[in-house]
Amino acid sequence: MLGGTRLGEADRLVTLYTQRRGKVRAVVRGALRPRSRLGGHIQPLSHCQLMLTESKGLDVVTGCQIIGPLFPMREDLVHHARGFYLMELIDCFCPEGLENPALFSLLVDTLEHLCLGEGGERVLRRFEVRLLDITGFRPELHCCLGCQQALEPVTNYLSPSAGGLLCRACAPEQSPVHSVSVNTVKVLRLLREADMETVNRLNLAPDLAAELEAALRSYIQYVLERSIKSGVWLERLRREFGPNGALGGPQNGR
Ligand SMILES: [Zn+2]
Repeated sequence: MLGGTRLGEADRLVTLYTQRRGKVRAVVRGALRPRSRLGGHIQPLSHCQLMLTESKGLDVVTGCQIIGPLFPMREDLVHHARGFYLMELIDCFCPEGLENPALFSLLVDTLEHLCLGEGGERVLRRFEVRLLDITGFRPELHCCLGCQQALEPVTNYLSPSAGGLLCRACAPEQSPVHSVSVNTVKVLRLLREADMETVNRLNLAPDLAAELEAALRSYIQYVLERSIKSGVWLERLRREFGPNGALGGPQNGR
């Protein structure tokens, strides 16, 4: 479940991301009643098998079985904010009713991995790169989109309006651009292909991790024409409590 709002006295209108139908809005009758089984199961970040029935043009949830454990409701705010960040990205990038099995498995894999407490922020970067690829915003990372020449191993520029990298000579003609070091470009290329084990082993220096995050964030914001609220929240929590959350989460922030 990506999110939900109250509907009438005790129902909820929830936004779900599904394997077969992509993003779906559905009613959960009685979800707000204290003993509602459906309401208890269909929670943000939960992974369930659902039965949906159509009634008066609306999808109604009539059955629910939890598949995986709920995203751990630990006292680790940063960890939790990462999960909500993924949900918001999916919600923003996906139109209703468009199935995307590759994106569904990326989401499930990423959430499961975060549940294990592994990978930290690097898992989010991998998700962002793959999300752009899968939803049709794949940035060009090998040649300059201005002059079509292969990029030199120097600082280059990531331009969301051009759709990828530009060399130093071509960058001023495009706006906005984000300067990216050789290592940041290498990591962007690696994240496109890397499995989770590789991501776990990746050791990013703080400067590199910050540049990577900033470059991807500005790219995504340009594509969506808005900022990601839970990304801002996540950033604030990290500043206040450090990368591992306030009360001791997994010890692998970057
Ligand atoms: Zn160029």
